Amino acid sequence: MRVNREDLRDTLGRAMKDLRISVTDRCNFRCSYCMPLDKYEWIERSEILTFEEITRLSRLFVRLGVEEIRVTGGEPLLRHGLEFLVAQLASLDGLKDLSLTTNASLLSEKAAALAQAGLRRINVSLDTVRAEKFRSMTRRDDLANVLEGLTAAKRNGMDPVKINSVIQRGVNDDDILELVEFSRRNGFWIRFIEYMDVGNSNNWVSARMVPKAEILKRIHARYPLKEIGRHDESAPAVNYQFLDGTGNAGVIASVTEPFCAGCTRARLTADGKLVMCLFSDQSCDLKGLMRSGADDEALVERIRSAWSTRKDRYSEERLEAMNSGEYRPSQRRKIEMISLGG
Ligand code: SAM
Repeated sequence: MRVNREDLRDTLGRAMKDLRISVTDRCNFRCSYCMPLDKYEWIERSEILTFEEITRLSRLFVRLGVEEIRVTGGEPLLRHGLEFLVAQLASLDGLKDLSLTTNASLLSEKAAALAQAGLRRINVSLDTVRAEKFRSMTRRDDLANVLEGLTAAKRNGMDPVKINSVIQRGVNDDDILELVEFSRRNGFWIRFIEYMDVGNSNNWVSARMVPKAEILKRIHARYPLKEIGRHDESAPAVNYQFLDGTGNAGVIASVTEPFCAGCTRARLTADGKLVMCLFSDQSCDLKGLMRSGADDEALVERIRSAWSTRKDRYSEERLEAMNSGEYRPSQRRKIEMISLGG
């Protein structure tokens, strides 16, 4: 069935094409750069959107222009029965792409059900393939499970299987080549992510961020690359092909080469709040409206109004402030990544 999509634009002319849905704020890892806290005010279970509520909202987002949905968290595989949500989303009329971002610790047991439900591709977050370092970075001893999860994704036909690695200086910048080799050897796509100042708990300092140029230089010295560009103009990663023909790599350079101007992403938190930017402290409560009995038109109007007034360009402003020496990450409160969904 054809879906009549609106051409909804924000104040900077950006269309709303992607929706990232956090299905839980819980995570079984404690990565220092994301959610290092042991104590956290977790969202009450009764406040978490049901699969039916998520599907209803997703259908409305598609009507308003969304073409791609990514399921994330917290750790999405902690959400019981996630494959049932995947099946509902995969069958939405007009949705062109559905993906999932996971730490893969539970993937080996879930990959078959997810594939059967209609999940065709997957992004796995993995910052090192060394067991000891994995343990110190995630504070969990799960590397073997993650590696099994990656294999299970491939065995169940997911394609591509992407690996996302956040690189921090002095932590895992010496793992870059090993991650490249691991990915090339196994047919995974590797994407490096510049360490970002998300949330308020990771004590981000720019010195710890390894810029895209440096990541590429290190890879190129061993495995020469050539740029092939972004998948489309709103894709966060710039992609590269290895000149020997084996595989590809990408870098998401949100700090040194911000892409706010091409940002087409909206985010829905596990408790039904609509957030425009990864670095935002503002949200718009869709769950409250929905649970008060609002009809689809009222929900559409709330979403339309939130997107059409969007004006954030946080990463561009951060770069301007960093260049003039005025950037103070702690001065700005943000929603934690674990609540927001990466
Ligand atoms: N638990 C899932 C996972 O591990 O993929 C999904 C949620 S996680 C918040 C999503 C992504 O955000 C992961 O790839 C993670 O590495 C990334 N991320 C978290 N904190 C980050 C930071 N400070 N800078 C860059 N990326 C970050």
